[in-house]
Amino acid sequence: MENALDAGARSVAVRIERGGIDRIEVSDDGSGIPPEELALAVTPHATSKLAPEGPIERIVSLGFRGEALAAIATAARLRIVSRPPEREEARGLEADARGPGPAFSAGRAIGTTVEIRDLFATTPARRKFLKSPAAEQVEVVRTVERLYLAHPSVGIRVGAEAGEIAAYPPEARLADAAARVLGPELLGARIDVAATVPGGTVRGALGRPTLSAATSRRLFLSVNGRPIESRSLAAAVRAAYGDYLPRARYPVGVLRLEVAPERLDVNVHPGKREVRFADERAIAEALRRRVREALLDAPQVAEARPAAPGAPAAGPDRAAVRPSAGPAAPAVQRTLGTPAEARVPRAVAAARGHPALTLLGCLDALYWVAAADDGLLLIDQHAASERVVYDALRRRGRLGRQTLVEPATVRLTGAQHAALRAHGEAVRAAGFDVEPFGPDDVRVRAVPAYRGRTAPASALRELLSELADGGRPTLPDGLEERTAATIACHAAIRAGDPVAVEEMGRVLEALRALPEASYACPHGRPIVIRLPRARLDRWFLRSGA
Ligand code: ADP
Ligand code: MG
Repeated sequence: MENALDAGARSVAVRIERGGIDRIEVSDDGSGIPPEELALAVTPHATSKLAPEGPIERIVSLGFRGEALAAIATAARLRIVSRPPEREEARGLEADARGPGPAFSAGRAIGTTVEIRDLFATTPARRKFLKSPAAEQVEVVRTVERLYLAHPSVGIRVGAEAGEIAAYPPEARLADAAARVLGPELLGARIDVAATVPGGTVRGALGRPTLSAATSRRLFLSVNGRPIESRSLAAAVRAAYGDYLPRARYPVGVLRLEVAPERLDVNVHPGKREVRFADERAIAEALRRRVREALLDAPQVAEARPAAPGAPAAGPDRAAVRPSAGPAAPAVQRTLGTPAEARVPRAVAAARGHPALTLLGCLDALYWVAAADDGLLLIDQHAASERVVYDALRRRGRLGRQTLVEPATVRLTGAQHAALRAHGEAVRAAGFDVEPFGPDDVRVRAVPAYRGRTAPASALRELLSELADGGRPTLPDGLEERTAATIACHAAIRAGDPVAVEEMGRVLEALRALPEASYACPHGRPIVIRLPRARLDRWFLRSGA
């Protein structure tokens, strides 16, 4: 496949049998191989990729050691058929460990087909290390995905015995290619990155925190068209997300770097998967900063953009604060115009490097309005409280529990009973004290409690359902995180709950005291919308803004 990309192919077809163990065929519509070079192509250390590009440091193609085809021929039966554009017919040859056989003529459109049969048939020791055909097939698709996301303008199809198993059409926009691999939800929840790094540029489409993954493998990195693995760059991207993601969750997306080839050493790894940058630290740090900026700029997470379509209600018209009236929010009524009351202690805030907050009021028992040093904050009361409870739960491993005066009887479905049997320990750690009660019911003797708030006994049903069917689609998928997120959701202040000023202050204080500003709840919904002063000034057409 690398050879096909090096040959300028626009379209590549991969066909595999038994996960590639029996047969792999790669056809491309690239520049082909002149017939007189066919035998050379399968000879060790023969490469056509040095001459036009000068010294080896400057090479930007994927291959340049002339080893791949020769190495494959020693490990399997290789058949190569190729037709360069200026030829009427294709020529081919077969090769194995004994070397190339005689050339033959074949019919073929412009381009090259390489077929590999019976991988490691003559080296059983190595064949033993192949995984099952199903697992090898997964690896094939992964490899194709990595190459596609490094070359999204090339279309790639993958077929197996049963027909097409994956298709990646050429895409002009990186985000569209990324969505082909990572799922269409990326398009509506992404962060675009376009920035400079030392010695080059980076472009990318990353998922918002709602689209995190349990491993770092859903972050696709490439440099100069070469898919790479880079711990330091992946760590830099993870660091940029900071506490936007719960612990043990990783960002998803695609980042393509272009850097001057002479600042890149691709010979660190035999498969050239790892590379070394001349200024790796500086690149990683720049990447972290760029991604962080892009994340902070993303409208739905931390900052309102007046014109962003699909952004939450945060434009100037909707952000207008009107005093909430009526019995729904009695506690807040009296705080309007009394800004000092729920002030987050400056000492705490300053110690963590966060500016102090002044609570201004509340809208519809949903949103709190606060003044920060640099503008206005709108806070979702449920999301904020949920995040704080979640964090406490993750830190301590358990919430408090509140014993019920009257144990509550809760009816469970068969699936919920099964989930209780499977996850009893997690349910108990979360704060529920549950015992069997007849064939269908359980008795709840204690419920999770946090700072005086308790979850309703019925929350047990929701927790068990979520544990039974693997959680909500956007939920973190580790069992502990999932449980914590569900419990936090139920133990938290709800939307519409009247909240006393003191409690708002406590939530804000806890929020600001988290190790890093946490602007997303465990489900990835935004907690805080920030309206910087400068933006307000622009809205009000203040001169100099
Ligand atoms: P390398 O890619 O390092 O040069 P390979 O063994 O992979 O070494 O390929 C040897 C040579 O065969 C390449 O340099 C190239 O000239 C030719 N070649 C192989 N595959 C293709 C292809 N699909 N299209 C055009 N040329 C190819
Ligand atoms: Mg090659």
